[in-house]
Amino acid sequence: MKITFIGTGSGKASLNRNHSSLLVTSGEYNLLVDAGDGISRALISNGISFKTINGILFTHLHPDHFSGLPSLIVQMKMLNRNEPLDIFIHESLKPVVEEFLIRSYLLPERMEFEIHYKAFADNERFIITEEFSFLARKNSHLGNLEKFQIKYPSLSLYSASFLFETRDIKVIYTSDIGSEEDLLLFREFVPDIFISEMTHISIAAIIESVIKINLGKVYLTHYSDEDIPKISEILASLPKTLSEKVKLAEDGFSFEI
Ligand SMILES: [Zn+2]
Repeated sequence: MKITFIGTGSGKASLNRNHSSLLVTSGEYNLLVDAGDGISRALISNGISFKTINGILFTHLHPDHFSGLPSLIVQMKMLNRNEPLDIFIHESLKPVVEEFLIRSYLLPERMEFEIHYKAFADNERFIITEEFSFLARKNSHLGNLEKFQIKYPSLSLYSASFLFETRDIKVIYTSDIGSEEDLLLFREFVPDIFISEMTHISIAAIIESVIKINLGKVYLTHYSDEDIPKISEILASLPKTLSEKVKLAEDGFSFEI
């Protein structure tokens, strides 16, 4: 498995870093995890051809994770893509995404490639290829919006954290979370790599979890430029045993496991 950080920024637009997005490669399959505002430019700046992306998985629909989708599809169309594109989306959000693309004039009749919607259910392993699968578990990231569901009953508040697996390699990705408990959503698994966001959780809480439970190697992402001095200070003060385990990810950084 290969992980490439396409973007490590927060929801705040930055000239230095892209909104958070990962490319998870397993064998021949390239899965883009989230496609927020500016994703097309973000992929170009990382030297990743649109044609090589087999599927896009959405963790939730906040604009910094989702709103780049129609323009990315337009880019693929302009490059005369023929291969189908998979879109992995929670079952409650599939109609929203489908409708959004239609409303963006991306009509199936006018496309040279097919979009295959792969709706996944919560806490059910989804098989992508023979050796590559994921497990989504709902987290509390959008819990603060529950009160609005009375006014907007069709509003889906599904936001998930993910476990990616290739053979026996396990990678946990928190995506955007809402509380410290969300760090423990996959507590029965021992991951090789744990990727955590940092906008909605303190670095202290992440480090505490690293100590308490075996999170494997930890990569931190989804942070604002203004947070960097503070994060660097905290990371620099860690004892060696921990500083070797916890790393701050940068745009374009990639590793294989
Ligand atoms: Zn979010």
